[in-house]
Amino acid sequence: MISRRALSSLRRAPLARGLSSRASTILHALDIHSETELEGVYDGDWTGSGEILESVCPTTGEVLARVKSATPAEVERALERSREAYKVLRTVPAPKRGEILRQIREALSAKRDDLGALISLEMGKIRTEGEGEVQEFVDIADYGVGLSRMMNGRVVSSERPGHSILEVPNPLGVVAVLSAFNFPVAVYGWNLALSLAAGNATLWKPAPSTPLCSIAVTKIVSSVLEKNGVPGAAAGLVTGGKAVGEAVVGSSDVDMVSFTGSEAVGREVGKVVQGRFGKVLLELGGNNAAVVMPDADLNMAVPAVFFGAVGTAGQRCTSTRRLYLQSSIVQKFLSRLEGLYQSVRPGDPLDRSTLLGPLHTRAAVNIYHDAVDHLLKTGAEILTGGAPYKDLPAPLNGGNFVMPTIAIPQEVNVKDRVWSTETFAPVLTVGVFDELEQAIEWNNGVPQGLSSSLWTRDIRNVGKWIGPAGSDAGIVNVNVGTSGAEIGAAFGGNKSTGWGRESGGDAWKQYVRWSACTLNFSDEAPLAQGVQFSNTA
Ligand code: NAD
Repeated sequence: MISRRALSSLRRAPLARGLSSRASTILHALDIHSETELEGVYDGDWTGSGEILESVCPTTGEVLARVKSATPAEVERALERSREAYKVLRTVPAPKRGEILRQIREALSAKRDDLGALISLEMGKIRTEGEGEVQEFVDIADYGVGLSRMMNGRVVSSERPGHSILEVPNPLGVVAVLSAFNFPVAVYGWNLALSLAAGNATLWKPAPSTPLCSIAVTKIVSSVLEKNGVPGAAAGLVTGGKAVGEAVVGSSDVDMVSFTGSEAVGREVGKVVQGRFGKVLLELGGNNAAVVMPDADLNMAVPAVFFGAVGTAGQRCTSTRRLYLQSSIVQKFLSRLEGLYQSVRPGDPLDRSTLLGPLHTRAAVNIYHDAVDHLLKTGAEILTGGAPYKDLPAPLNGGNFVMPTIAIPQEVNVKDRVWSTETFAPVLTVGVFDELEQAIEWNNGVPQGLSSSLWTRDIRNVGKWIGPAGSDAGIVNVNVGTSGAEIGAAFGGNKSTGWGRESGGDAWKQYVRWSACTLNFSDEAPLAQGVQFSNTA
């Protein structure tokens, strides 16, 4: 048996081989030194002595770092420290919290390129998308700065003389953010900006395969907090897998759980939080359709569908997975789309000319294979793709590259798994319709309801699409693809996507506790609705 001491010295052991210069340049620019194991817990201090997480580059298979995740005791301590930080933060005036957010925005912006490169390195999305993700964090921090002066309550007219009713937003407490691998920075940003502006402490449990992104961001954010005399645990971090996630979600010390991830896990998380009457915000899977009418401008629609289905190698919650084409434009549309598919080459996402990066994990490659097998078994025609890339040059031969795929199933049966499940890979299925009403029925016929997009120049189609008999998704676009969104509107989906809303719009209202305060300025104490409760009546 190995002694504890031997085990802990093993854990401190350096990585067996040096890092590639491709990786080490990026990590060093962000002050991450992965020659030895990294601490993956931040509660005001850096710690971590739990199970080791490996960060593996999806492009090359290189192990980038080993990270010591949180033990149950470390999760508990992080939660205690988050609570203490909340007690400090809730007394800081909201505009002052906004000023701290402004400084976080500046610090992130200064590291935009380096962080963007780290996202490409660790998650696998292409450079422009990695940088775009950091930009989203910068944008929502800007939004949070403004919000910090606008999180207004209301004064409501009272039916009783000399009375006034206030609706008052107060800080909520500790907000836990559980995030998915595919947006390893922006999803946390959406939550942190609103949560901090609202006066809460935030504890982040990132995906276990992207610990480096979370460590880099936490270092940047915590240095700003500490400079402002706010405990670092106001933005704490617990890395780990399912067990750490379960511990956070199940804890009654967490006032709100903001969960982004798959429908399967979200369903369990929702039940656990509901079971203890906590607040929960769910941002789950999407299965998004683009509908193209005969009057659409194909110069816009074809590239948008291409980006929606192939961008991020099909690993966005808003990726285009279903394409419904009106029968008169099928051939024209598909031949142009196929041309774009065939022009795309896999490459290193760090290279600015690359449009197609890898899938994030080997497991995702298996999911891709499984989806293609099922399509073939059910008689679908594979128009293009359908296999992993072979014979890629080193070091890409160690990566998870698969061909973007267009498939035409034999029929549109929205109950079949071909249409009704989210395959988190670049697989696009195509169906043909005659009338818009049919396409809307198919669009709405699946369990998920995240994003949707209609391509048309006819205002009558637009009216149908965005109206009561139109798309039932949370995002209903016209001449804009399904993939990607700005921070200004509330972001989220309906049905099995979870009904949650993050980012802009009224999303901030979930990060506070609301109090209805009736104030009596009079010398009488009348009851509401004229109720009398006196034995002299
Ligand atoms: P996932 O559900 O596997 O994991 C999400 C998070 O949950 C991770 O941090 C994971 O460690 C944690 N987790 C796993 N089991 C848990 C448990 N039992 N209790 C608590 N936490 C647990 O998702 P993923 O594979 O990382 O991400 C892909 C999914 O996320 C896709 O379905 C995608 O559509 C979805 N997503 C949705 C949005 C949105 O805004 N709607 C955004 C991004 C991703």
